[in-house]
Amino acid sequence: MSTFKAPKGTYDLIPPVSVKYLAVREAISGPLRNSGYGYIETPGFEDVGLFARGVGESTDIVSKEMYAFETKGGDQLALRPEGTASVLRAALEASLHKQGNLPVKLWYSGSYYRYERPQKGRYRHFSQVGAEAIGAEDPALDAELIILADQAYRSLGLRNFRILLNSLGDKECRPVYREALQGFLRGLDLDAETIRRAEINPLRVLDDKRADVQKQLVGAPMLRDYLCDACKAYHEEVRALITAAGVAFEDDEKLVRGLDYYTRTTFEFVHDGLGSQSAVGGGGRYDGLSEMIGGPALPSVGWALGVDRTVLALEAEGVELDIPAATSVFAVALGEEARRVLFGKVTELRRAGIAADFSYGGKGLKGAMKDANRSGARFAVVAGERDLAEGVVQLKDMEAGEQSPVALADLVDEVRARLA
Ligand code: ATP
Ligand code: MG
Repeated sequence: MSTFKAPKGTYDLIPPVSVKYLAVREAISGPLRNSGYGYIETPGFEDVGLFARGVGESTDIVSKEMYAFETKGGDQLALRPEGTASVLRAALEASLHKQGNLPVKLWYSGSYYRYERPQKGRYRHFSQVGAEAIGAEDPALDAELIILADQAYRSLGLRNFRILLNSLGDKECRPVYREALQGFLRGLDLDAETIRRAEINPLRVLDDKRADVQKQLVGAPMLRDYLCDACKAYHEEVRALITAAGVAFEDDEKLVRGLDYYTRTTFEFVHDGLGSQSAVGGGGRYDGLSEMIGGPALPSVGWALGVDRTVLALEAEGVELDIPAATSVFAVALGEEARRVLFGKVTELRRAGIAADFSYGGKGLKGAMKDANRSGARFAVVAGERDLAEGVVQLKDMEAGEQSPVALADLVDEVRARLA
């Protein structure tokens, strides 16, 4: 044990569990890569103003959870708390939107940082895979993203997740609703902080989890009754397209998200086995974000799925991912000469695309065979002086327990044939 520990709210991904995280990232990005989304990577930190303006000063993410700091050079930076603002910033900076091919479809995978109260499923460093479709107002794009997330979760074997869907209206109808909601909230008996929230971002009050607040919210004006015709038609089309794809969802009129930039389509993926940290992913349309960060009007839609909570969801459902053993062949050399020869064979196997590993550290037969077992390899290749004198190695099938000599020169072909 070292004198140091992982910082509070963080944890390390360590074998053998870490392969699950790789598999989840792979499963989420697969459907995106298969649907015209290009890979984008942006820095882990940005100008703090990007998030302050993009995500919103009044959000918890910016007001409480951001790791903001000043550099030695005097720059005000923040570790990224989310991906959308960065991806849009990068797309605008590279003028991707000017190349006449809207929407620009991008996917990303990385680490995000929020100064939260750590608990199961809520960390200060976590990882997301996300997708953004920038520069088109088309309900089919909203539907595409929801369908692809559903496909990703299903491909992992998840079943007990639900898709919650809502429309938050646009710059025509939302202000009217906001006003009506504020009028209603002013008549309630709320604590000081909630009253302040009601003034800055009244929609967020609807999302308050406390029972005494929820009780008072009965009879609150609902956004659905204020949606303009364009928003209503748009939302109906999104619903129809998802329904036609056979993807089940629930209309959730109270669904709002913790970021200020959302408009129209808003959705969340929740898993019922996770307790209070039930959101495994979320997203929606953000038609005004580009202008908020100084760009042109670029109506866009996206989502981010949490990798950590997806792994927890898999565990909650008892899903065992079908992950092949990392190593196919494990070489065990007995003696110096055998060591040199087998090390060469391992290199040859690897160059032929066969996953191979070697018994290092000069162990005896027993210890080395233990390592071979632990590696999960299908075959062990064992050789000592006598085998080499005969120009063979012993190829042991670890599943069947059978062992037979194979000519040294034929080893790679023989292993390849048996693995096929
Ligand atoms: P929550 O309501 O649980 O705080 P959020 O609305 O802040 O979630 P988003 O910003 O939409 O979450 O991020 C998308 C996904 O990223 C979430 O659904 C969740 O799976 C994951 N996520 C967000 N914050 C954390 C965190 N602190 N630790 C682990 N995963 C997180
Ligand atoms: Mg949050």
